[in-house]
Amino acid sequence: MKLPAWRRTPEDFASRIEQSIPWIVEYLKCDRGPWSPCAPGELAAKVPVAPPLKAESLEAVLDDLRTVIEPGLVRWDAPGWFAWFPSNAHPDAILGDLLASVTAQQGMLWTSSPACTELESRMLEWLRVALGLPEIFREGGAGGGVIQDTASSGVLACMVAARDIATDGAATRQGSAACGGLTAYTSEQAHSSVLKAAGICGVGRDNLRLVPTDNDFRMDAGALADLMQSDIEAGLRPCFCCATVGTTGCGAIDPVEAIADACDTHGCWLHVDASWAGTAALVPELQSQITSGATRADSWSFNPHKWMGAAFDCCCLWLADRAPLIAAMSIDPEYLRNAASGGGDVIDYRDWHVQLGRRFRAIKLWVLLRCTGVEVLSEMIQFHIDLASIVEDAVNLHPHLELAAPRSLSLLCIRHTDGESGTQKLLDMVNGDGRFAATHCRLDGALVMRIAIGTLAVDRKSVDSLIEVLEQC
Ligand SMILES: *Cc1c(COP(=O)(O)O)cnc(C)c1O
Repeated sequence: MKLPAWRRTPEDFASRIEQSIPWIVEYLKCDRGPWSPCAPGELAAKVPVAPPLKAESLEAVLDDLRTVIEPGLVRWDAPGWFAWFPSNAHPDAILGDLLASVTAQQGMLWTSSPACTELESRMLEWLRVALGLPEIFREGGAGGGVIQDTASSGVLACMVAARDIATDGAATRQGSAACGGLTAYTSEQAHSSVLKAAGICGVGRDNLRLVPTDNDFRMDAGALADLMQSDIEAGLRPCFCCATVGTTGCGAIDPVEAIADACDTHGCWLHVDASWAGTAALVPELQSQITSGATRADSWSFNPHKWMGAAFDCCCLWLADRAPLIAAMSIDPEYLRNAASGGGDVIDYRDWHVQLGRRFRAIKLWVLLRCTGVEVLSEMIQFHIDLASIVEDAVNLHPHLELAAPRSLSLLCIRHTDGESGTQKLLDMVNGDGRFAATHCRLDGALVMRIAIGTLAVDRKSVDSLIEVLEQC
Protein backbone atom coordinates (compact mmCIF):
# COMPACT_ATOMS: atom_id res chain seq x y z
CA MET A 1 0.00 0.00 0.00
CA LYS A 2 1.30 3.41 -0.97
CA LEU A 3 1.78 5.89 1.90
CA PRO A 4 0.29 9.35 1.54
CA ALA A 5 2.90 11.81 0.23
CA TRP A 6 3.16 13.77 3.47
CA ARG A 7 4.14 10.74 5.48
CA ARG A 8 7.83 9.91 5.92
CA THR A 9 8.76 6.53 7.28
CA PRO A 10 11.24 6.46 10.17
CA GLU A 11 13.75 4.83 7.80
CA ASP A 12 13.19 7.60 5.32
CA PHE A 13 13.89 10.17 8.04
CA ALA A 14 17.06 8.35 9.13
CA SER A 15 18.37 8.32 5.57
CA ARG A 16 17.75 12.04 5.26
CA ILE A 17 19.74 12.64 8.41
CA GLU A 18 22.55 10.52 6.96
CA GLN A 19 22.41 12.49 3.75
CA SER A 20 22.73 15.77 5.70
CA ILE A 21 25.64 14.68 7.87
CA PRO A 22 28.42 15.52 5.39
CA TRP A 23 27.11 19.11 5.23
CA ILE A 24 26.83 19.30 9.04
CA VAL A 25 30.38 18.00 9.54
CA GLU A 26 31.76 20.38 6.93
CA TYR A 27 29.85 23.25 8.53
CA LEU A 28 31.04 22.55 12.05
CA LYS A 29 34.67 22.70 10.89
CA CYS A 30 34.05 26.41 10.26
CA ASP A 31 36.76 27.49 7.85
CA ARG A 32 35.72 31.08 7.25
CA GLY A 33 35.63 34.38 9.14
CA PRO A 34 32.67 35.26 11.33
CA TRP A 35 30.79 38.07 9.56
CA SER A 36 28.51 37.33 6.60
CA PRO A 37 29.72 38.77 3.28
CA CYS A 38 26.08 39.36 2.22
CA ALA A 39 24.72 42.81 1.43
CA PRO A 40 21.14 43.65 2.45
CA GLY A 41 18.67 41.92 0.13
CA GLU A 42 21.33 39.71 -1.46
CA LEU A 43 20.07 36.48 0.10
CA ALA A 44 16.37 37.25 -0.40
CA ALA A 45 17.09 37.85 -4.09
CA LYS A 46 18.24 34.23 -4.42
CA VAL A 47 15.14 32.71 -2.77
CA PRO A 48 11.98 32.43 -4.90
CA VAL A 49 9.13 34.66 -3.80
CA ALA A 50 6.61 31.81 -4.11
CA PRO A 51 6.72 28.46 -2.27
CA PRO A 52 7.24 25.20 -4.22
CA LEU A 53 4.00 23.37 -4.98
CA LYS A 54 5.72 20.07 -5.62
CA ALA A 55 8.41 18.28 -3.63
CA GLU A 56 12.04 18.97 -4.47
CA SER A 57 14.90 16.60 -3.76
CA LEU A 58 16.92 16.90 -0.56
CA GLU A 59 20.03 17.11 -2.80
CA ALA A 60 18.69 20.32 -4.32
CA VAL A 61 17.95 21.72 -0.86
CA LEU A 62 21.43 20.83 0.44
CA ASP A 63 23.01 22.42 -2.64
CA ASP A 64 21.17 25.66 -1.94
CA LEU A 65 22.13 25.40 1.70
CA ARG A 66 25.74 25.67 0.54
CA THR A 67 25.33 28.31 -2.12
CA VAL A 68 22.39 30.46 -0.98
CA ILE A 69 22.09 30.13 2.80
CA GLU A 70 25.65 29.58 3.99
CA PRO A 71 26.98 32.98 2.82
CA GLY A 72 24.24 34.68 4.83
CA LEU A 73 25.20 32.95 8.06
CA VAL A 74 27.17 34.68 10.78
CA ARG A 75 29.65 32.27 12.33
CA TRP A 76 29.06 32.80 16.03
CA ASP A 77 31.13 29.64 16.43
CA ALA A 78 34.24 30.99 14.67
CA PRO A 79 37.48 30.91 16.66
CA GLY A 80 37.76 34.67 16.02
CA TRP A 81 34.28 35.48 17.36
CA PHE A 82 34.66 38.16 20.05
CA ALA A 83 31.44 40.09 19.36
CA TRP A 84 28.52 40.62 21.80
CA PHE A 85 28.61 37.45 23.92
CA PRO A 86 29.24 33.89 22.79
CA SER A 87 26.17 31.88 21.75
CA ASN A 88 27.60 28.41 21.89
CA ALA A 89 26.00 25.26 20.51
CA HIS A 90 28.00 22.34 21.85
CA PRO A 91 27.53 19.21 19.68
CA ASP A 92 26.11 17.34 22.68
CA ALA A 93 23.48 20.08 23.09
CA ILE A 94 22.78 20.04 19.35
CA LEU A 95 22.09 16.34 19.65
CA GLY A 96 19.78 17.02 22.60
CA ASP A 97 18.00 19.69 20.56
CA LEU A 98 17.46 17.18 17.76
CA LEU A 99 15.93 14.79 20.30
CA ALA A 100 13.61 17.60 21.44
CA SER A 101 12.39 17.92 17.85
CA VAL A 102 12.15 14.18 17.31
CA THR A 103 10.13 13.61 20.47
CA ALA A 104 8.05 16.75 19.78
CA GLN A 105 6.99 17.14 23.39
CA GLN A 106 4.61 19.89 24.48
CA GLY A 107 5.53 20.63 28.07
CA MET A 108 2.70 22.97 28.99
CA LEU A 109 1.25 20.61 31.61
CA TRP A 110 2.73 17.74 33.60
CA THR A 111 0.10 15.56 31.88
CA SER A 112 1.08 16.79 28.41
CA SER A 113 4.65 15.57 29.06
CA PRO A 114 5.80 14.18 32.41
CA ALA A 115 9.32 13.81 30.98
CA CYS A 116 9.58 17.43 29.87
CA THR A 117 8.29 18.64 33.25
CA GLU A 118 10.20 16.39 35.63
CA LEU A 119 13.48 16.41 33.70
CA GLU A 120 13.32 20.21 33.59
CA SER A 121 12.90 20.50 37.36
CA ARG A 122 15.80 18.08 37.84
CA MET A 123 18.10 19.83 35.34
CA LEU A 124 17.48 23.12 37.11
CA GLU A 125 18.42 21.35 40.34
CA TRP A 126 21.60 19.96 38.73
CA LEU A 127 22.56 23.44 37.62
CA ARG A 128 21.61 25.02 40.95
CA VAL A 129 24.04 22.64 42.64
CA ALA A 130 26.71 23.07 39.94
CA LEU A 131 26.55 26.87 40.23
CA GLY A 132 26.42 26.83 44.04
CA LEU A 133 23.08 28.64 44.16
CA PRO A 134 21.31 28.67 47.53
CA GLU A 135 18.80 26.18 48.91
CA ILE A 136 15.98 28.72 48.61
CA PHE A 137 15.84 27.87 44.90
CA ARG A 138 15.92 24.08 45.35
CA GLU A 139 13.69 21.58 43.60
CA GLY A 140 10.75 20.68 45.82
CA GLY A 141 10.91 23.90 47.87
CA ALA A 142 8.55 26.88 47.81
CA GLY A 143 10.14 28.12 44.61
CA GLY A 144 12.09 26.14 42.07
CA GLY A 145 13.50 26.46 38.61
CA VAL A 146 12.07 26.84 35.13
CA ILE A 147 13.52 27.21 31.66
CA GLN A 148 12.46 30.39 29.89
CA ASP A 149 13.19 30.93 26.22
CA THR A 150 15.35 33.98 26.95
CA ALA A 151 16.45 36.22 29.81
CA SER A 152 14.07 38.87 28.46
CA SER A 153 11.08 36.57 29.07
CA GLY A 154 12.49 35.70 32.50
CA VAL A 155 12.76 39.28 33.69
CA LEU A 156 9.29 40.05 32.32
CA ALA A 157 7.78 37.09 34.21
CA CYS A 158 9.44 38.26 37.44
CA MET A 159 8.32 41.86 36.96
CA VAL A 160 4.75 40.68 36.40
CA ALA A 161 4.88 38.72 39.67
CA ALA A 162 6.42 41.68 41.54
CA ARG A 163 3.81 44.08 40.16
CA ASP A 164 1.06 41.73 41.34
CA ILE A 165 2.51 41.47 44.83
CA ALA A 166 2.61 45.27 45.05
CA THR A 167 -0.98 45.64 43.82
CA ASP A 168 -2.35 42.55 45.54
CA GLY A 169 -3.27 41.06 42.18
CA ALA A 170 -5.14 44.13 40.96
CA ALA A 171 -2.68 44.61 38.08
CA THR A 172 -3.64 41.25 36.60
CA ARG A 173 -7.35 41.67 37.27
CA GLN A 174 -7.83 45.32 36.30
CA GLY A 175 -4.96 46.08 33.97
CA SER A 176 -2.46 48.88 33.89
CA ALA A 177 -4.66 51.42 35.73
CA ALA A 178 -3.84 49.46 38.90
CA CYS A 179 -0.11 49.95 38.25
CA GLY A 180 -0.24 53.71 38.85
CA GLY A 181 2.59 54.80 41.11
CA LEU A 182 4.65 51.62 40.77
CA THR A 183 8.37 52.13 40.23
CA ALA A 184 11.19 49.74 39.29
CA TYR A 185 14.97 50.03 39.48
CA THR A 186 18.03 48.85 37.64
CA SER A 187 21.43 50.32 36.87
CA GLU A 188 22.38 52.55 33.95
CA GLN A 189 24.43 49.60 32.66
CA ALA A 190 21.60 47.04 32.86
CA HIS A 191 20.33 45.19 29.82
CA SER A 192 17.60 46.78 27.71
CA SER A 193 15.30 43.81 28.44
CA VAL A 194 14.52 45.37 31.85
CA LEU A 195 13.26 48.52 30.14
CA LYS A 196 11.23 46.45 27.70
CA ALA A 197 9.67 44.46 30.55
CA ALA A 198 8.73 47.67 32.38
CA GLY A 199 6.95 48.87 29.24
CA ILE A 200 5.06 45.63 28.75
CA CYS A 201 3.99 44.79 32.31
CA GLY A 202 2.26 48.09 33.05
CA VAL A 203 4.91 49.64 35.31
CA GLY A 204 5.88 51.84 32.36
CA ARG A 205 9.29 52.65 30.92
CA ASP A 206 9.21 56.13 32.48
CA ASN A 207 8.91 54.53 35.91
CA LEU A 208 12.04 52.44 35.60
CA ARG A 209 14.78 54.33 37.46
CA LEU A 210 18.24 53.93 36.01
CA VAL A 211 20.48 53.99 39.06
CA PRO A 212 23.93 55.60 38.61
CA THR A 213 27.01 53.39 38.76
CA ASP A 214 30.39 53.70 40.46
CA ASN A 215 33.76 54.10 38.71
CA ASP A 216 33.74 50.43 37.75
CA PHE A 217 30.18 50.61 36.33
CA ARG A 218 28.57 48.70 39.23
CA MET A 219 25.24 49.88 40.57
CA ASP A 220 25.67 52.42 43.37
CA ALA A 221 23.61 50.83 46.15
CA GLY A 222 23.56 54.06 48.16
CA ALA A 223 22.07 55.91 45.19
CA LEU A 224 19.50 53.11 44.84
CA ALA A 225 18.44 53.49 48.48
CA ASP A 226 18.16 57.28 48.04
CA LEU A 227 16.05 56.93 44.88
CA MET A 228 13.71 54.46 46.55
CA GLN A 229 13.39 56.72 49.58
CA SER A 230 12.54 59.81 47.55
CA ASP A 231 10.05 57.83 45.46
CA ILE A 232 8.32 56.66 48.65
CA GLU A 233 8.22 60.23 49.92
CA ALA A 234 6.60 61.23 46.63
CA GLY A 235 3.87 58.65 47.26
CA LEU A 236 5.21 56.11 44.75
CA ARG A 237 5.54 52.34 45.27
CA PRO A 238 8.89 50.63 44.53
CA CYS A 239 8.07 47.06 43.47
CA PHE A 240 11.00 45.60 41.51
CA CYS A 241 14.75 45.87 41.24
CA CYS A 242 17.07 44.10 38.79
CA ALA A 243 20.72 43.69 39.76
CA THR A 244 23.15 42.52 37.09
CA VAL A 245 25.96 40.04 37.56
CA GLY A 246 28.02 40.67 34.44
CA THR A 247 26.58 43.66 32.60
CA THR A 248 26.27 43.48 28.84
CA GLY A 249 28.56 46.46 28.28
CA CYS A 250 31.62 45.71 30.39
CA GLY A 251 30.67 42.75 32.59
CA ALA A 252 30.32 44.77 35.82
CA ILE A 253 29.07 42.82 38.82
CA ASP A 254 26.57 44.77 40.92
CA PRO A 255 26.86 44.60 44.74
CA VAL A 256 23.89 42.28 45.22
CA GLU A 257 24.08 42.17 49.05
CA ALA A 258 23.92 45.95 49.40
CA ILE A 259 21.18 46.15 46.77
CA ALA A 260 19.23 43.52 48.72
CA ASP A 261 19.43 45.71 51.83
CA ALA A 262 17.68 48.53 49.99
CA CYS A 263 15.10 46.16 48.49
CA ASP A 264 14.32 44.56 51.85
CA THR A 265 13.62 47.96 53.41
CA HIS A 266 10.79 48.56 50.94
CA GLY A 267 9.61 45.00 50.27
CA CYS A 268 10.86 45.25 46.71
CA TRP A 269 11.33 42.11 44.52
CA LEU A 270 15.03 41.54 43.79
CA HIS A 271 15.88 39.84 40.50
CA VAL A 272 19.47 38.97 39.58
CA ASP A 273 20.32 38.91 35.88
CA ALA A 274 23.46 36.82 35.36
CA SER A 275 22.69 35.98 31.73
CA TRP A 276 26.28 35.77 30.54
CA ALA A 277 28.41 35.62 33.70
CA GLY A 278 26.29 33.02 35.49
CA THR A 279 28.09 30.18 33.73
CA ALA A 280 31.34 31.26 35.41
CA ALA A 281 29.95 29.95 38.71
CA LEU A 282 30.77 26.47 37.35
CA VAL A 283 34.37 27.34 38.30
CA PRO A 284 34.62 26.62 42.03
CA GLU A 285 37.01 29.55 42.64
CA LEU A 286 34.56 32.00 41.04
CA GLN A 287 31.38 30.66 42.57
CA SER A 288 31.21 32.95 45.59
CA GLN A 289 31.80 36.03 43.46
CA ILE A 290 29.05 35.16 40.96
CA THR A 291 26.44 33.95 43.45
CA SER A 292 27.17 36.55 46.11
CA GLY A 293 23.92 37.81 47.60
CA ALA A 294 21.83 35.17 45.81
CA THR A 295 20.34 34.02 49.12
CA ARG A 296 18.71 37.45 49.33
CA ALA A 297 17.23 37.37 45.80
CA ASP A 298 13.64 36.56 44.86
CA SER A 299 14.76 35.36 41.45
CA TRP A 300 18.04 34.60 39.69
CA SER A 301 18.65 33.79 36.05
CA PHE A 302 21.39 32.88 33.60
CA ASN A 303 21.55 31.78 29.97
CA PRO A 304 23.25 28.41 29.43
CA HIS A 305 22.85 29.21 25.72
CA LYS A 306 25.49 31.90 25.97
CA TRP A 307 28.70 30.63 27.51
CA MET A 308 27.78 27.09 28.63
CA GLY A 309 27.08 25.70 25.16
CA ALA A 310 23.42 24.75 25.63
CA ALA A 311 22.42 25.93 22.11
CA PHE A 312 19.96 28.80 21.80
CA ASP A 313 17.45 29.12 23.34
CA CYS A 314 17.73 28.29 27.03
CA CYS A 315 17.44 30.61 30.03
CA CYS A 316 17.37 29.12 33.52
CA LEU A 317 15.31 31.05 36.05
CA TRP A 318 15.05 30.22 39.73
CA LEU A 319 12.45 31.61 42.13
CA ALA A 320 12.50 31.57 45.91
CA ASP A 321 8.69 31.54 45.91
CA ARG A 322 6.76 30.49 42.83
CA ALA A 323 3.31 31.36 44.21
CA PRO A 324 3.12 35.00 43.04
CA LEU A 325 4.28 34.12 39.52
CA ILE A 326 1.76 31.32 39.24
CA ALA A 327 -0.99 33.53 40.65
CA ALA A 328 -0.29 36.08 37.91
CA MET A 329 0.17 33.64 35.04
CA SER A 330 -2.20 30.77 35.77
CA ILE A 331 -5.14 30.08 33.53
CA ASP A 332 -7.53 27.17 33.82
CA PRO A 333 -9.64 26.63 30.71
CA GLU A 334 -11.81 23.53 30.67
CA TYR A 335 -9.86 21.91 27.82
CA LEU A 336 -6.64 21.86 29.87
CA ARG A 337 -8.19 20.43 33.05
CA ASN A 338 -6.86 17.03 34.12
CA ALA A 339 -6.55 14.85 37.21
CA ALA A 340 -2.85 15.51 37.86
CA SER A 341 -3.23 19.31 37.75
CA GLY A 342 -6.36 19.08 39.86
CA GLY A 343 -4.51 16.97 42.43
CA GLY A 344 -2.00 19.78 42.88
CA ASP A 345 1.02 17.48 43.24
CA VAL A 346 2.60 18.31 39.91
CA ILE A 347 4.18 21.30 38.23
CA ASP A 348 2.43 22.74 35.20
CA TYR A 349 5.06 24.95 33.63
CA ARG A 350 2.50 26.84 31.52
CA ASP A 351 1.91 28.91 34.68
CA TRP A 352 5.54 30.05 34.89
CA HIS A 353 5.73 32.24 31.79
CA VAL A 354 3.80 34.01 29.05
CA GLN A 355 3.37 31.26 26.47
CA LEU A 356 1.37 28.06 26.85
CA GLY A 357 3.18 25.50 24.68
CA ARG A 358 6.80 24.87 25.46
CA ARG A 359 9.71 23.05 23.91
CA PHE A 360 11.55 20.15 25.58
CA ARG A 361 14.65 22.24 26.33
CA ALA A 362 15.72 20.24 29.38
CA ILE A 363 16.80 17.36 27.18
CA LYS A 364 19.66 19.34 25.64
CA LEU A 365 20.92 20.23 29.13
CA TRP A 366 20.63 16.57 30.09
CA VAL A 367 22.62 15.31 27.10
CA LEU A 368 25.19 18.12 27.39
CA LEU A 369 25.75 17.71 31.14
CA ARG A 370 25.93 13.91 30.95
CA CYS A 371 28.13 13.66 27.88
CA THR A 372 30.45 16.56 28.71
CA GLY A 373 30.32 16.87 32.49
CA VAL A 374 30.50 19.90 34.75
CA GLU A 375 34.28 19.66 35.24
CA VAL A 376 35.04 20.00 31.54
CA LEU A 377 32.69 22.96 31.22
CA SER A 378 34.37 24.56 34.20
CA GLU A 379 37.80 24.02 32.58
CA MET A 380 36.51 25.68 29.42
CA ILE A 381 35.42 28.78 31.35
CA GLN A 382 38.79 29.01 33.10
CA PHE A 383 40.57 28.60 29.75
CA HIS A 384 38.60 31.53 28.27
CA ILE A 385 39.39 33.68 31.27
CA ASP A 386 43.09 32.84 30.96
CA LEU A 387 43.00 33.83 27.27
CA ALA A 388 41.36 37.14 28.20
CA SER A 389 44.11 37.88 30.68
CA ILE A 390 46.69 37.33 27.93
CA VAL A 391 44.93 39.96 25.80
CA GLU A 392 44.69 42.19 28.87
CA ASP A 393 48.49 42.00 29.37
CA ALA A 394 49.06 42.90 25.71
CA VAL A 395 46.74 45.90 25.98
CA ASN A 396 48.47 47.09 29.13
CA LEU A 397 51.86 46.92 27.40
CA HIS A 398 50.64 48.80 24.32
CA PRO A 399 51.46 52.53 24.26
CA HIS A 400 48.19 53.56 22.59
CA LEU A 401 45.66 51.09 23.99
CA GLU A 402 44.03 50.90 27.40
CA LEU A 403 41.23 49.14 29.22
CA ALA A 404 38.14 51.33 29.66
CA ALA A 405 36.90 49.12 32.51
CA PRO A 406 38.51 46.40 34.58
CA ARG A 407 38.58 43.02 32.78
CA SER A 408 35.54 41.04 33.86
CA LEU A 409 36.08 37.27 33.55
CA SER A 410 36.66 36.86 29.79
CA LEU A 411 35.34 40.26 28.69
CA LEU A 412 37.57 43.22 27.83
CA CYS A 413 36.63 46.79 26.95
CA ILE A 414 39.45 48.39 24.99
CA ARG A 415 39.88 51.96 23.81
CA HIS A 416 42.49 53.92 21.92
CA THR A 417 44.27 56.76 23.69
CA ASP A 418 43.36 59.01 20.70
CA GLY A 419 39.73 58.81 21.80
CA GLU A 420 36.67 58.26 19.61
CA SER A 421 38.33 58.24 16.19
CA GLY A 422 41.21 56.05 17.34
CA THR A 423 38.82 53.52 18.86
CA GLN A 424 36.64 53.52 15.74
CA LYS A 425 39.74 52.82 13.62
CA LEU A 426 40.65 49.99 15.99
CA LEU A 427 37.17 48.46 15.58
CA ASP A 428 37.37 48.83 11.80
CA MET A 429 40.79 47.20 11.75
CA VAL A 430 39.71 44.20 13.83
CA ASN A 431 36.44 43.70 11.92
CA GLY A 432 38.07 44.40 8.54
CA ASP A 433 40.72 41.75 9.04
CA GLY A 434 38.30 38.98 8.06
CA ARG A 435 39.18 36.55 10.83
CA PHE A 436 37.56 38.41 13.72
CA ALA A 437 34.30 39.88 14.92
CA ALA A 438 34.19 42.53 17.64
CA THR A 439 31.39 44.87 18.73
CA HIS A 440 31.32 48.08 20.73
CA CYS A 441 29.55 49.78 23.58
CA ARG A 442 29.72 53.16 25.30
CA LEU A 443 31.08 53.65 28.80
CA ASP A 444 30.66 57.11 30.29
CA GLY A 445 29.62 58.21 26.81
CA ALA A 446 32.90 57.09 25.21
CA LEU A 447 33.19 54.47 22.49
CA VAL A 448 34.94 51.23 23.47
CA MET A 449 35.64 47.97 21.66
CA ARG A 450 34.38 44.88 23.45
CA ILE A 451 36.34 41.65 23.19
CA ALA A 452 34.23 38.81 24.61
CA ILE A 453 36.20 35.57 24.58
CA GLY A 454 34.18 32.38 24.89
CA THR A 455 33.46 30.31 21.79
CA LEU A 456 34.07 26.58 21.91
CA ALA A 457 36.64 26.96 19.13
CA VAL A 458 38.70 29.88 20.44
CA ASP A 459 42.30 28.99 21.20
CA ARG A 460 45.69 30.50 21.94
CA LYS A 461 46.36 30.85 18.23
CA SER A 462 43.26 32.97 17.53
CA VAL A 463 43.99 35.17 20.52
CA ASP A 464 47.65 35.61 19.45
CA SER A 465 46.48 36.65 15.97
CA LEU A 466 44.10 39.16 17.52
CA ILE A 467 46.95 40.57 19.60
CA GLU A 468 49.07 40.93 16.43
CA VAL A 469 46.33 43.04 14.87
CA LEU A 470 45.94 45.12 18.06
CA GLU A 471 49.68 45.74 18.12
CA GLN A 472 49.66 47.20 14.63
CA CYS A 473 47.50 50.10 15.70
C1 LIG B 1 22.31 38.71 26.79
C2 LIG B 1 21.76 39.39 27.98
C3 LIG B 1 20.38 39.54 28.17
C4 LIG B 1 19.34 39.19 27.14
O1 LIG B 1 19.35 37.91 26.76
P1 LIG B 1 18.15 37.23 25.99
O2 LIG B 1 18.21 35.86 26.58
O3 LIG B 1 18.53 37.27 24.56
O4 LIG B 1 16.89 37.92 26.28
C5 LIG B 1 19.94 40.09 29.35
N1 LIG B 1 20.81 40.51 30.28
C6 LIG B 1 22.14 40.41 30.14
C7 LIG B 1 23.05 40.91 31.20
C8 LIG B 1 22.66 39.85 28.97
O5 LIG B 1 23.99 39.76 28.81
